Amino acid sequence: MIVVKTIKEVRETVKQWKKEGLTVGFVPTMGYLHEGHQSLIKAADKGNDRVVVSIFLNPMQFGPTEDLATYPRDLERDKAKCLEAGADLIFAPEPEEMYTDNFQSFVDMHLLTEELCGLTRPVHFRGVCTVVTKLFNIVKPDRAYFGKKDAQQLAVIKRMVTDLNMDIEIIGCPIVREDDGLAKSSRNTYLNAEERKAALVLSKAVRKAEELIKSGVRESADIISQMTDIVNAEPLAKIDYIKVVSLDTMQQITKFTDSALVAMAVYIGKTRLIDNYFYEGE
Ligand code: AMP
Repeated sequence: MIVVKTIKEVRETVKQWKKEGLTVGFVPTMGYLHEGHQSLIKAADKGNDRVVVSIFLNPMQFGPTEDLATYPRDLERDKAKCLEAGADLIFAPEPEEMYTDNFQSFVDMHLLTEELCGLTRPVHFRGVCTVVTKLFNIVKPDRAYFGKKDAQQLAVIKRMVTDLNMDIEIIGCPIVREDDGLAKSSRNTYLNAEERKAALVLSKAVRKAEELIKSGVRESADIISQMTDIVNAEPLAKIDYIKVVSLDTMQQITKFTDSALVAMAVYIGKTRLIDNYFYEGE
């Protein structure tokens, strides 16, 4: 496994692989890797000859009051996780490598990015779209892998690739959870013991949504009200949103038949966590 910090080194390596006729899978991350990230790397390893992982805490996707400064980092630990999961190249640039002083171009999107997390995090998806476009242009992968945990991000990236004719297959991978149900997240490290326990309301509410949908409930309000009761029973939890939306548009739907996304964001103390249930039909 190679670890590089410059765009030039990534390009040279990938160029050589392509010359040899090898396919390239790509997993973009912000680092502090866990089994969720590793599941994407493993999927990329299975579907491609070579796997590139980027580790870049992208300042552009954080708002001024968000957790950029405190976000956990540990490149040595990340290297071991990447190696274990089957990565061939880690691209870990410094911000100056990605954003020169004169940087002034952005990739922006309307509608899809204005719902759910976009309401609380207005600059987030512009930062995500811009950095992912840059990373796609640097790595030039055949396929890129994203977690369904960030369901809106996955929908946004799929939309961007279609709208801007990027010749890259986008693959969504299932949510990886802790044994007790909490969705794995680098941000779980912010939780103290009491908050860690309280955070279980997210997966509990998501399980309830799944149970209701599987038993035939199709009215969004019924699902949302039961999930809200579960979260509100926990004093440390504060709901940002619980919504049932269309998988394609992220717009709220009152009723559904064959597919829906039940998405939630909840503050546990100061930590904002997300979770969701993808219903894609029987
Ligand atoms: P991040 O480092 O948080 O930007 O995440 C990088 C990628 O890993 C994104 O595509 C996430 O959706 C994905 N990811 C994060 N947590 C999980 C998880 N628990 N299960 C599956 N994928 C995940």
